[in-house]
Amino acid sequence: MNKGIEIAKGKTKVLYEAAGSPDQLVVAQTDQISAGDGARRNEISGKGRLAAQTTARVFRLLNLCGLPTHYLNGGEDDDNNEMLVRRCNMIPLEVVVRGVAAGSFVKRNPGVQRGALMVPRVIEFFYKDDAAHDPMITPDAIVGNGIANPNEVGVMTELARLTFEILSHAWRKRDVLLVDLKIEFGRLTGGPDKGQLVIADVIDNDSWRIWPQGREELMLDKQMYRNLDAVDDAALARVKTAYEEVADLVGTFPVMRPGMAAVVGDSPDRSDAINAVVASLQQLGLPTVRHVASPSKTPGYVLQLVQQLEATFARLFFVAVDEDGSLRAMLDSASSSPVLHWRGDPQALALDCAKLLGLEDTVLYGRTLLMQANARSAVLHADAMLQQQAQVPTPQGAALG
Ligand code: 5GP
Repeated sequence: MNKGIEIAKGKTKVLYEAAGSPDQLVVAQTDQISAGDGARRNEISGKGRLAAQTTARVFRLLNLCGLPTHYLNGGEDDDNNEMLVRRCNMIPLEVVVRGVAAGSFVKRNPGVQRGALMVPRVIEFFYKDDAAHDPMITPDAIVGNGIANPNEVGVMTELARLTFEILSHAWRKRDVLLVDLKIEFGRLTGGPDKGQLVIADVIDNDSWRIWPQGREELMLDKQMYRNLDAVDDAALARVKTAYEEVADLVGTFPVMRPGMAAVVGDSPDRSDAINAVVASLQQLGLPTVRHVASPSKTPGYVLQLVQQLEATFARLFFVAVDEDGSLRAMLDSASSSPVLHWRGDPQALALDCAKLLGLEDTVLYGRTLLMQANARSAVLHADAMLQQQAQVPTPQGAALG
């Protein structure tokens, strides 16, 4: 990668300017592994390669889901473990999401059983300060000390939760339990979205706890290294094998499983509705085919379509665009694929479709969560605007109630 000068060096990575692109940086991950704020340090040849692959694949998945991250490209190929990212001013916080009680959480909360499922997820903030061992910090203190504003704290919380749920879904598909996760945020330094909060730094096998089959003793993450009584070559080789396995598994995360939505209307005047449904399915990245077939006028064609489409596409489902439900009933009886019914709201239908395919597809699952989060935040925003208006004093005095 075309690097400029080195601008920072961390425990496990080096940052360079990207030659000719002031709003971009090159992040190179190294073979270093460390624990206990650097008290234990080793080098595992090839670890930087695996860390860069893991990070790039995780970020590629998050980008595909629509989450804002700093990642642009690189890290996966033979490129010195370097990835190109959008330049950020980092916020000095580690944001931890926990789905299962472990690590420092059970030390701080002895009443909570290790391994207990945590729903809703617990979100914790730690202030990045090695000398003070990254102390925990409350949202109020983050705002009070000018580290981030209240809106940013809300966005970080929501994005951290979404990141956790998306990665948790991907791991669950591989029979691995995501226990907890640490991420970091930055504000973009330039470009059209200057100042926007994005998920930054790296997300690799040092950033989470993962327990295959939900069994802690099978762990594949950096905790293996933290737990070592004696660090010798054989132990480091076992750690490396786990990191290799993780990088391979994560390689399958950003792959969308092809599906097909067959949108079928029961009469020629359904074209507008069919097109509206197709447009919202395309927004979610779902491929579609469209047809008109009438159960009363062309019943043979309905049956023929079902057979043709089922013979052509894996993971097919139908969307019946009719009012009286007879096309839907016919598709239901003739087809072995799921049939959804259009009820006049293309967005709601797209969400139903994404949920259906999201059972198996983490990208669609992530897009569904993001769509729901955006819908929630639109409601909260509208409410906040109304409250603001209500607080503006009227010429006669303060507004009542
Ligand atoms: P805990 O607070 O239980 O020690 O850690 C919670 C989660 O955050 C774990 O998944 C752990 O790996 C991660 N984590 C905590 N501190 C750090 C850190 O300094 N660097 C990295 N990469 N991950 C951390």
